[in-house]
Amino acid sequence: MTTTLPVSGAHFEPYEVVVGEGLTAGLGRRVAPFARGRTVIITDETVAGLHAPAVLASLQAAGVRARLLTIPPGENSKSFAELERVIDRLLAFGLDRRDLIIALGGGVVGDLAGLAAALYMRGIDLVQVPTTLLAQVDSSVGGKTAIDTPRGKNLVGAFHQPRLVVADIDLLATLPERQLRSGWAEVLKHGLICDAGFFDWLAGEGAVGAKGDPAALTRAVVRSIEIKSAIVGEDEKEAGRRALLNLGHTFGHAIEAELGFDEDALTHGEAVALGCALAFRFSAARGLCPLADADRVETVIAAAGLPTRLEHAGAFSADRLLARMAGDKKAEGGGLTLILARAIGDAFVDKAADRAAVAAFLRAEGAA
Ligand code: NAD
Repeated sequence: MTTTLPVSGAHFEPYEVVVGEGLTAGLGRRVAPFARGRTVIITDETVAGLHAPAVLASLQAAGVRARLLTIPPGENSKSFAELERVIDRLLAFGLDRRDLIIALGGGVVGDLAGLAAALYMRGIDLVQVPTTLLAQVDSSVGGKTAIDTPRGKNLVGAFHQPRLVVADIDLLATLPERQLRSGWAEVLKHGLICDAGFFDWLAGEGAVGAKGDPAALTRAVVRSIEIKSAIVGEDEKEAGRRALLNLGHTFGHAIEAELGFDEDALTHGEAVALGCALAFRFSAARGLCPLADADRVETVIAAAGLPTRLEHAGAFSADRLLARMAGDKKAEGGGLTLILARAIGDAFVDKAADRAAVAAFLRAEGAA
């Protein structure tokens, strides 16, 4: 079954996210209306080997002339150097403002290709074809694009909404198990933010999605995109409600940063899972949320094979984590902004979290 979800907001052109199995064969037909001139597919070397032939064949069958631009896989490609190389290739290909970029890959490809599309000739059209679960449920929708600098992740970027997103669940079949589980963390996050019923389903019948069951994955992706797009539609630039999507991210980012963003040690999704568990336990410790909810969050995250305790990721200093959390770009002024919860499915933004309480909590969680 194919589901088409509209995404709209006050300040951007509406677009559709198409989710389902077996969508790649018909991708060319869906992309054709946006491919008025030349089309460049930006992808990484791994995805190119696995999925570019089918994508190119589908585009060709629909009369879309496309060429491939390949980047090395991994977070290191979200750099000024790789952005410059990509833009130089686009210029060498002679792309102009009416042409199209297709981002075929995970969040790294989507973020880099998206930023290149935002910058190239002051902005050209972008179609996202996400190939990781994380990219399907999160990074391909909402228009955030970015690269990293040595001073931090995602610090240089732009809002550039795609014209179309096509999320083919079949592409996830080649994804390593650990990557699938990492994307599942973002799925769980969406339930935790605002849909307790969805979280119940993910914890029960839907849990097979974390193991690759296509029907469960389809439903999980559809509901995640509904939740994300509703929030983005209300608050594209993160003036308020969009910050809820950062549940687990302030703790998670700090932990990732302390580990030097070493994906072998901890993937982004694993950091988000651990961050969600910490955000719920901190909420419970502050008397904001029932302890039973925090315990359940931990049980469900652990059952998906994701980390829930600091010790699962390494040894940390509470002061260093706190400094990282305060330095997070989501921090406003001197205050520490945290996404906390009143219950499963009821997250809220706390713009003035008590630093001393966070430090004490981190020590109680085992940080030195
Ligand atoms: P990724 O893009 O690095 O992909 C993970 C790995 O899986 C890579 O090695 C890739 O080559 C491989 N891969 C991709 N698709 C595959 C497939 N179908 N089969 C086999 N292998 C495949 O990582 P990710 O987890 O998708 O994305 C992480 C990035 O997304 C981070 O940089 C993060 O900052 C960003 N992000 C952005 C947003 C946003 O709103 N823009 C949101 C969340 C995360």
